[in-house]
Amino acid sequence: MKITYPPFGDARIAIESFLRDFGHEVIPPPPSTNRTLSIGVKYAPEFACLPLKITLGNYIESIEKGADTILMLGGIGPCRFGYYAEVQRRILKDLGYDMDWIVLDLSNGWMNLFRSIKKIVNGNSVIKVIKALRLAWEKVLALDKIEKISRKARPFERYKGEVDNIVRETHKKLDQAGSISQVRQVLSEYRETMDSIIDEDSLEELVKIGIVGEFYVVLDHFTNFEIARRLGELGVWAENAFYIEDIVRIYLPLFRNKDIEERTRVALPYIKRSVGGEGQRTVAHTIEFAERGFDGVIHLSPFTCMPEIVAEGILERVSKDYDIPVLTLSIDEQTGLAGITTRIEAFIDMLKTKKRRRMAG
Ligand code: SF4
Repeated sequence: MKITYPPFGDARIAIESFLRDFGHEVIPPPPSTNRTLSIGVKYAPEFACLPLKITLGNYIESIEKGADTILMLGGIGPCRFGYYAEVQRRILKDLGYDMDWIVLDLSNGWMNLFRSIKKIVNGNSVIKVIKALRLAWEKVLALDKIEKISRKARPFERYKGEVDNIVRETHKKLDQAGSISQVRQVLSEYRETMDSIIDEDSLEELVKIGIVGEFYVVLDHFTNFEIARRLGELGVWAENAFYIEDIVRIYLPLFRNKDIEERTRVALPYIKRSVGGEGQRTVAHTIEFAERGFDGVIHLSPFTCMPEIVAEGILERVSKDYDIPVLTLSIDEQTGLAGITTRIEAFIDMLKTKKRRRMAG
């Protein structure tokens, strides 16, 4: 079995870790590029969500490298995410790719889920499985910390690309780490290096932006035009509303905790129930950022994504009530870097002026 998976952001390091530990031959999708996107756009239905198109392109590029099995999450909604696996399976089949699918999907009953897990576990003992999952989880936590710290450090880098180089090197070491103590060692070396870049005394002067929206677009650097790096280079400290850990907790019921529901409650005066995807959470996270004193929020929304369209309508009111500027960027295959950059720069200029005035009293 040569297995591949839908990559999103840096999660690939953790996903590969446990698949390798279970003895699978992993065929990682090549990093997403414009080619990946055009393949997805060519074969996916026109009005499919952008993440479906990009991951379809990822699969085809992995198949070209020899993958014969795809690991994916599935379900029955409440947004289109639940149908991705089935839609993509049919598209690939029509194209002549008869792949094996391992779909982690509770909606087909526990027996089906158990069969999928059995395939992933690959005959390993319970102890080995627990060990592999613990290591992968430790890598998830480390990846999130690396990302959070890099956001803080980028506005202070001594030359362009300094933080990216360090992050790249750290990711390589993390990928090779074979035990929890090695993961912790990699993280502590990274922290030390970053501490020498971050100027703690000047942090308060930075414009702080919260990034909210649909999870794939928020976490996948290619899809969001590397927004965190661009903001960092503009001297902005950008925090995400969520990182990989939160997404694992939201989409894998076994990992769920109360914190996710608690955080969503603040949105209830504006939106009573979930509208699928991150719709309700987008509203909650924007309020959260406003209450934490952030200067602005950027809302990332894949074009035609219903949950984010609903959220966008509500955000106008939240923005007024909490006096926090919100910029919505709707992203699809037609979106160009130049347009995104212009809008982001204008937004940041406005926030910087506002902040300067406020700080001057
Ligand atoms: S949240 Fe939006 S973009 Fe993501 S799968 Fe659902 S409908 Fe598509």
